Amino acid sequence: MSITGSCLCGAIRYEVSGSPISTILCHCDNCRKATGSSFMANGFYMQSQLRVLAGHNSLKVYQDSATASGSTVSRSFCTNCGSSLFATNKDNPLAKDAVIIASGTMDLGPSAAEWAPQREFFCMRRREWLPPLENTQTSQMLESVENIQKGTSC
Ligand SMILES: [Zn+2]
Ligand SMILES: [Zn+2]
Repeated sequence: MSITGSCLCGAIRYEVSGSPISTILCHCDNCRKATGSSFMANGFYMQSQLRVLAGHNSLKVYQDSATASGSTVSRSFCTNCGSSLFATNKDNPLAKDAVIIASGTMDLGPSAAEWAPQREFFCMRRREWLPPLENTQTSQMLESVENIQKGTSC
């Protein structure tokens, strides 16, 4: 199974192969600022699953160091249209080979089978008007890739 995606202007195109490690809604303030929305809907993958097909020159990386965990998150966006696409956290040994892909940039349909969140992070920061989803595992903060793969939560 592979999924294609792009930024809003289409300059950056990518393909991601195989199943995500998890699908996550993140309610942290940094994800809100980065997307300009109420939360960020992230696909968690290994970096080896992601292939950028076009637009390398349009990708710029913002080093987001003001994070709750204290580790720097590298957030990639399109310099032409501003779409948030990818984030990595190489400072954090538990996530160093993983990549977060903003699911809003994926070419998906509305069906739950294509992309439904399995987990929610930073629920302590969730907007009060937004009720918790059914069938998600929730965490107050972050989870390590290892815990996600094991299916445990804190
Ligand atoms: Zn773009
Ligand atoms: Zn976040």
